[in-house]
Amino acid sequence: MNYKSKLPNVGTTIFTVMSALANEYNAINLSQGFPNYTGSQKLNDLVTKAMNNGYNQYAPMAGNLDLRLAIGHKYELLYKSSYHPEKEITVTAGATQAIYTIISAFIRLNDEVIIFKPAYDCYAPAVEINGGKTISVQLSAPHYSVNWDEVASKLSSKTKMIIINTPHNPSGTIWSEDDMLQLQKLTQNTDIIVLSDEVYEHIVFDDTQHLSACLFNDSKQRSFITASFGKTFHNTGWKIGYCCAPENLMSEFRKVHQFNVFSVHHPSQKGIADYMQDSETYLGLNAFFQRKRDLFLSLISESRFKVQPSKGTYFQVLDYSEITDAYDVDFAKRLTKEFKIAAIPLSVFNDNHKDDKVLRFCFAKTDETLVKASEILTKI
Ligand code: PMP
Ligand code: GLN
Repeated sequence: MNYKSKLPNVGTTIFTVMSALANEYNAINLSQGFPNYTGSQKLNDLVTKAMNNGYNQYAPMAGNLDLRLAIGHKYELLYKSSYHPEKEITVTAGATQAIYTIISAFIRLNDEVIIFKPAYDCYAPAVEINGGKTISVQLSAPHYSVNWDEVASKLSSKTKMIIINTPHNPSGTIWSEDDMLQLQKLTQNTDIIVLSDEVYEHIVFDDTQHLSACLFNDSKQRSFITASFGKTFHNTGWKIGYCCAPENLMSEFRKVHQFNVFSVHHPSQKGIADYMQDSETYLGLNAFFQRKRDLFLSLISESRFKVQPSKGTYFQVLDYSEITDAYDVDFAKRLTKEFKIAAIPLSVFNDNHKDDKVLRFCFAKTDETLVKASEILTKI
């Protein structure tokens, strides 16, 4: 059979590659971002209760209404921003499906989409498979700060969308108010849609406030906000997330969503809705992960890795330039095979494999795992 790949340059994601290598070499896996401890028993019980109470058939296409109400309440509480639960919030199969569906609903042949690199890996393939083209703005370690003049110079009449991600995976940086205002200024009076990937909104450190796109009036009118319960409730395998957007944008999203997935796992949605009635379930996350970040950083303080403390997400980037000048992918593989610790090389998320000699370590792990990992890192 003859066929032409629609994604000829796409291989297997680095997360899958590194997790498989970690398993093969029995290494501590700080590569792919997922917790190695169990989530809340109360949440598990609420999902079981939902199953026993009959939430076992298709959820409404836009999501279980109790969950959409709980999400709407959260936006009122945290950002004093309203999203109509019936018209402006849709529950998705993780943030990944929300992102794919948003891009599919709006991107056509030759449309341009601005992305900031290093970029989370699901953005570009979704743009390309829909015939669009990504235009990248390359950022650099250790601060990953944005040159807004460069962004301005890359906008054109073909620019249809800008994808932003704060707190940022993989760098662990966050955008300032100035960044958000610059974005708003650049997009004002345009038809550009903003896809604001905010899956780590509840993991921000040092008393900083997460700046959601919905806090900025003009940006809110053109933004989809995507979120992931997998990140918030420590159960990445459930693949439940959601997106919010003004009604006009959301109605286009749902035209695709209904044929892309229609609806997602119903008992989990009901269980999460009940669990979210207590806002501490998500508000407590900052402190929970800040303690883990600080523990990890104090444990590796004697190592040869150079540190810029993560400002958000559950990832810490470490600079290994004092140890070796090896290419980061090679060094990550060597660490896994020889030292039995797996991390993610950042060059795979950059233009032309730009290598800043940094690796990303996930600290959503038990304290015991962090102690063992640090013992290894300190000896390298
Ligand atoms: N965006 C970013 C920045 C992520 O790190 C992830 C992984 N959680 C996703 C999107 C996808 O989230 P989900 O697992 O809910 O699909
Ligand atoms: N979001 C996770 C990470 O950044 C990976 C999810 C995946 O494996 N696709 O590590």
